[in-house]
Amino acid sequence: MLTGHIGRACRSAGRMVLDAVLPPLCLRCAEIVESPGTLCAACWQGFSFIAPPYCARCADPFPTDPGAGALCAGCLARPPRYRRARAALIYDQESRRLVLPFKHGDRTDMARACGSWMARAGAELLAEADIVAPVPLHWRRLLARRYNQAQLLARAAVGHAEDRARLSLAPDLLRRRRWTGSQSGLRAEERRGNVRAAFDIRPRWAAEIVGKAVVLVDDVLTTGATVEACARVLQRGGVRHVDVLTLARVVRPAL
Ligand SMILES: [Zn+2]
Ligand SMILES: [Zn+2]
Repeated sequence: MLTGHIGRACRSAGRMVLDAVLPPLCLRCAEIVESPGTLCAACWQGFSFIAPPYCARCADPFPTDPGAGALCAGCLARPPRYRRARAALIYDQESRRLVLPFKHGDRTDMARACGSWMARAGAELLAEADIVAPVPLHWRRLLARRYNQAQLLARAAVGHAEDRARLSLAPDLLRRRRWTGSQSGLRAEERRGNVRAAFDIRPRWAAEIVGKAVVLVDDVLTTGATVEACARVLQRGGVRHVDVLTLARVVRPAL
């Protein structure tokens, strides 16, 4: 354990030295950029940042503006359990090359920039929130990955929020008590079944969250099954409402 800590400390010290000597590189493609933690112009242009007009509920982009408060077909057919969801980027081939190394490849240095985009996309949500909490990993996955990417994003988004002094960051609000395996390859209905009853609220937060507005943070919103399972638990626990903020989202998920 000690060796692990020392090893990590040496690596991060080494990194600081390297950062001072080497030019900063684009987060996504490793092209030289002006300042650390940014993208080069080509990567920036390749990204599809989500902006209005979009569904008032889930922020699925609309091709034309149908007017304030309009909902997408998906939210009309099956209203989600959360109040609103916002995401910084459309999850496509371009953003996947940012999200996957961040999630599986130890590229935790990306969190700061991602958090700033999320704080912008979710400004409205964060302005009304009391508590910001990540979707938790099961302890077995956390052990293997060593970090919860959603927790890093939650911290970074709070760090960039306008009114951050008012927000409580609650990394341990929820617990994933059941091993659910991977959600990829499952259809929406299967995903919902897979995460049903997978989460609970840690006892120390039970009284704290009553009547509060919670923003749940995750890396990618796909069908919404995971965040809806979390939202359900929080609503039963007495929160006022749950909003969802993610780095990226799949556009028009299959229902
Ligand atoms: Zn680049
Ligand atoms: Zn919608």
